[in-house]
Amino acid sequence: MSPRSTVVGPYDLDRDGLADWLAAGSERRGNAPSYRVDQLWDGLYVQGGPPENWSNLPKALRQRFAEELPPALTEVRRSTGDGGDTVKWLWALHDGATIETVLMVYDDRATVCVSSQAGCAMACGFCATGQDGFTRHLSVGEIVEQVMVARHVSPRRVSNVVFMGMGEPLANYGPTVATLRRLRDDVGLSARHLTVSTVGMVPAIRRLASEELPVGLAISVHAATDALRDELVPINRRHNLESLVDAAIDWREQTGRRVSFEWALIDGVNDTPEQLDALIELADQARAHVNFIPLNPTPGWPTKGTPPAGVRFARERLARAGITVTVRDTRGDDIDAACGQLASRTRGESAVALAAPHRR
Ligand code: SF4
Repeated sequence: MSPRSTVVGPYDLDRDGLADWLAAGSERRGNAPSYRVDQLWDGLYVQGGPPENWSNLPKALRQRFAEELPPALTEVRRSTGDGGDTVKWLWALHDGATIETVLMVYDDRATVCVSSQAGCAMACGFCATGQDGFTRHLSVGEIVEQVMVARHVSPRRVSNVVFMGMGEPLANYGPTVATLRRLRDDVGLSARHLTVSTVGMVPAIRRLASEELPVGLAISVHAATDALRDELVPINRRHNLESLVDAAIDWREQTGRRVSFEWALIDGVNDTPEQLDALIELADQARAHVNFIPLNPTPGWPTKGTPPAGVRFARERLARAGITVTVRDTRGDDIDAACGQLASRTRGESAVALAAPHRR
């Protein structure tokens, strides 16, 4: 991507874009020396942080870079929970749209959860982001920068990235795939440690399976009958459960990786024996792993999460049927770390908070 196309931040530039940017500088015309591109690449992807700290570049060049290619993300709010092990950012983008990023630190690694869109058009009723609607797609640079900022502050090595923040990543297909390649090829993360979460965009799942990117795929299933899923996850009216399970089977055959079925447990809605038995059947057909998510309360959605006894009941029912099942760690409950929640809570304050200086 060249600096003249849709560049909203430094991570939107690839090596050719950086070479163009260098060549366009007033102090130099013509081809930029390739070692300068390597040095900028090292600053962006190895050293990280603000350009003024990149020790291998002349001061004038660092200043010009900082002025002409400022960060795409401006920090509006940073919240910390779980004794400091979970950090959640609310960012403002250049046009005032807001997105979120979460860093989760474990004993042996760290995981970053990124947003792929500002808002989301999928309208899942139990999701704060879905209730607020779609603003726009994010660029490659806006997604990659979320990982790089989190990596810069993380006390542990960031080894995993999950596309489970705001937005439906497969609805923003091109930038999502380009980001996956950038994270694998330039940031050095294993594709096996990158997970794309989708609400079930069947044609895009099939396309991703053919990209030769062995990433993880998590499908937000949430209901095991079309009648209930049409209501909870409206995309089901376009791509029903049968087509979704077929795509999951083909994904496994093509990539050699099984999918994970994500299931937000909703009290009295999808934690009934009938729904759980229908889920067992679907998971068995797709040979999928099931991941139960205790549901965070969402303003505007009248139902509530399944209580702990119901979570245990659901897990045991699936395990007895031979399905591999886990219950997701409820990281960040104390800081609204579920999809979209911090953005909805903060919206009214953003105009004031935006005046705060960008901090990293
Ligand atoms: S759950 Fe995911 S796909 Fe559904 S509205 Fe929320 S962000 Fe969009």
